[in-house]
Amino acid sequence: MKSTVYLVKYGEIFTKGDNRYIFMDTLVKNIKSMIRETGKYEIVKEQGRIIINPVGEYDEERLEKKLSQVFGIIGFSKAYMFDEKDFEVISKVACEYIDENISPLKKTFKVEAKRSDKSFPLNSPQICRELGSKILDEKPEFSVDVNNPSFTLWVEIRDHVYVFQDIVRTCGGMPIGTNGKSLLLLSGGIDSPVAGWMIGKRGVYVEGCYFDSPPYTSEMAKQKVVDLAKKVGEYIPGFKLHRVNFTDIQLYIKEKCPLDELTIIMRMLMMRISERIANEIEAQSLITGESIGQVASQTMHSLAVTNSAVKMPVFRPLIGFDKEEIVDIAKKIDTYETSILPYEDCCTLFVAKHPKTKPNLEGILKSMEALTDIDRMVDEAVNTREIIEIS
Ligand code: ATP
Ligand code: MG
Repeated sequence: MKSTVYLVKYGEIFTKGDNRYIFMDTLVKNIKSMIRETGKYEIVKEQGRIIINPVGEYDEERLEKKLSQVFGIIGFSKAYMFDEKDFEVISKVACEYIDENISPLKKTFKVEAKRSDKSFPLNSPQICRELGSKILDEKPEFSVDVNNPSFTLWVEIRDHVYVFQDIVRTCGGMPIGTNGKSLLLLSGGIDSPVAGWMIGKRGVYVEGCYFDSPPYTSEMAKQKVVDLAKKVGEYIPGFKLHRVNFTDIQLYIKEKCPLDELTIIMRMLMMRISERIANEIEAQSLITGESIGQVASQTMHSLAVTNSAVKMPVFRPLIGFDKEEIVDIAKKIDTYETSILPYEDCCTLFVAKHPKTKPNLEGILKSMEALTDIDRMVDEAVNTREIIEIS
């Protein structure tokens, strides 16, 4: 009796020595939580693999989509698992696997085999040869191509026997929750969701922080950021969005500070508020979607000034990326279409036609001395934030 399972391969966890079990346990926990809504499963760890065994009905398409979103997995494959370590049975199941899972357009193949159970009478090269010729007998329209096959059929003989095709490559990375916590400054743009995804991929648990300025920014603009947070949250279980009302602070800066310094001062205050929230949620760092030179507030001078607003490390994973490279990732992770919806961001309110591109810190701090009530306003912004549970 064969059953259908998923073989999951993981990558860098291999390198983690004595801590490996922590990474493994976190990965299994994350897989469980992320595939929960697609069916019921038994999940077991087996020699460098995780085996997902569906119990009853499951939604195959959604399961595969969710697996492709789990950081720490480098690939997976649907496999047939059975116990009969008998060449005739293996050949029969291999042919069934091809009929039921391989596109009829694919006619060239090769067989790869791995025999961990040395009591099986054929060694790996023999299995490849014998099984290849058996498949050719059964399916004369097929041919073997060892250099460039349209699919590879794998047979592994371990405690059980597994028959499967090439592993579907996924995004890799490390399991979320194995590398601390960070707060992402999430706007409605293209860059910041990508930045959060990239840091999350390294095993960092990420939450988001979004500044809006109602009524100058609309409910639709907020909804767009919530939708983006949901997209990022598909990869990051437990993602939360902290929405900060920034209206009073923006109006205050506009009233008290020179217009050409407005954006940079606003960005410094965003950083300050974010650092406060990060401390509250016990995050160790901030993330932004900045990239050198993209806009006036992201020149080297501006970044240096913004950075000095906080003590916490600020990670900018896109710092050396061109817009096109960022767009490619945004499309891959499916945030792009939401990001390009045309709603306003609070950053674009009250902007100067010619903002300073080479601000100097002393000058900016001097201008900020006019903001005598700002500490109270920052407290209020932090304390009145709305926390939205996303995933
Ligand atoms: P994005 O980077 O999101 O595509 P953008 O290109 O318009 O937006 P800026 O407005 O210069 O870039 O913002 C740079 C970074 O500052 C963003 O990547 C994001 O991390 C943060 N940021 C900007 N606006 C907001 C906001 N309203 N709320 C939270 N973070 C913001
Ligand atoms: Mg940007």
